[in-house]
Amino acid sequence: METVDCIVVGAGVSGLVAAARMARAGRGVLVLEASSRVGGCIHSWRLGGEKKGGGKNGGEAKSAEIKPGMPGADFWLELGGHTAYNSYSQLLEALQERGRLDDLLPRAKVGYRFVGADGKLQSPLKLLNFLEAALAFPFGVGKAKPGRNLAEWFGGLLGRGNYRRLLAPAFSAVLSQSADAFPAEWLFRRKPRMQAAPRKYSFPGGLQGLLEALVEGAAFELRYDTGVNALARTPGGFEVRTSAGAIACRQLILAVPVDAAAELLSITQDDSALSSLARDLQSFPMSSSEALGVVLAAGKSPLPALAGLIADSSRDDFWSVVTRDPVPHDTLRGFTFHFRPGRLNLDTKLARAAAVLGVTPADFLHVREALNRLPAPSVEHPRRVAAIDARLALEPLALVGNYLNGLAIGDCAERAARETDRLLAL
Ligand SMILES: Cc1cc2nc3c(=O)[nH]c(=O)nc-3n(C[C@H](O)[C@H](O)[C@H](O)COP(=O)(O)OP(=O)(O)OC[C@H]3O[C@@H](n4cnc5c(N)ncnc54)[C@H](O)[C@@H]3O)c2cc1C
Repeated sequence: METVDCIVVGAGVSGLVAAARMARAGRGVLVLEASSRVGGCIHSWRLGGEKKGGGKNGGEAKSAEIKPGMPGADFWLELGGHTAYNSYSQLLEALQERGRLDDLLPRAKVGYRFVGADGKLQSPLKLLNFLEAALAFPFGVGKAKPGRNLAEWFGGLLGRGNYRRLLAPAFSAVLSQSADAFPAEWLFRRKPRMQAAPRKYSFPGGLQGLLEALVEGAAFELRYDTGVNALARTPGGFEVRTSAGAIACRQLILAVPVDAAAELLSITQDDSALSSLARDLQSFPMSSSEALGVVLAAGKSPLPALAGLIADSSRDDFWSVVTRDPVPHDTLRGFTFHFRPGRLNLDTKLARAAAVLGVTPADFLHVREALNRLPAPSVEHPRRVAAIDARLALEPLALVGNYLNGLAIGDCAERAARETDRLLAL
């Protein structure tokens, strides 16, 4: 049977940062990815075609909506993760190793607006009641975050009214789900910044391009369209089963969404430690949102240049709109609406998007839908992760992903680096 030092399952940011770090330490690494692209939740839709897997870490353009070389073929729009920061150290270190740090595209400083009930756009500051904030602040400022959710902690800090009007919609827009129950300790953690990188950035081809840069010419191998469907413990490590056959490894890194990790561990043969881990992971809830990307001619919408729009999380059908404006394009503009799941069909989504943008659906030159899934953690979540980590301490298995250290790309990279270092030290 084919045997490698380490198999990484999943080629999102968590899996690729882990793979790069393992390979840097001289280990033989194989990444197995179920889909035909890297990125997972980082999904840059390219009008000139998605890069599809082919050959050893290679890629060729497929599914083009505009033929390569034609106007607009260089346009991309983020359907998932969109903004990265220079505090995402472990991601940037991996990029620096590939010699690609200079390719980062700084994001222009454009703001966010709220969409009012009348459809008019409002500045976030207009929703802040300064008196309420000033009265609440002295009582909220010193409170510990662990054990409190966002509604409790920020409601205490700036007042419940300010939380409801301003912060709940803003946080829900960031998380693409209701933010109230989210653990406060998982948001706004201070981290060192890499000064050589722009504060906020994207990458040529979108953030997915950044992950592709980690793969191109890397010391690890990546196999696309290779979903893992079962695991088995062996005396030397694990056997990883795919439809193309089984592969043995000494160490295993699961970098897949929590429900996929639970499923794989639950069917791990005859291993009570891993089946009980799987039971714990099965109780981690997930949320979903429906992305609708629309592209139109640059002059069509009367909206000013914006980073995004924030909807009223108590009533609207969408959480947020993310734009391409921070990385402007000569002839096109793009907007991704993140809709709540199961509420609207495509036609009603297009009508709603057109109304918000001040255009008609006929103005949309290109349209793309995608389903996004994220963890939906609550206050007890960080302690459940700590318990899982205690059980994994001596295992040749690492769990990495956005359900273990925070949802942000940087949180995923940080977790991936930490767990890889643990495996390297075993
Ligand atoms: C709409 C949206 C907007 C966001 N915006 C931002 C943002 O602006 N900034 C930010 O920092 N974060 C943002 N995030 C969060 C961030 O993008 C994600 O949390 C992060 O990218 C998750 O990475 P991951 O590698 O842990 O998991 P994923 O991206 O989910 O990757 C998992 C990978 O595993 C693969 N896989 C699954 N099962 C198998 C299997 N059985 N075998 C092989 N492969 C498998 C999947 O195909 C996928 O490629 C956003 C997320 C969403 C959804």
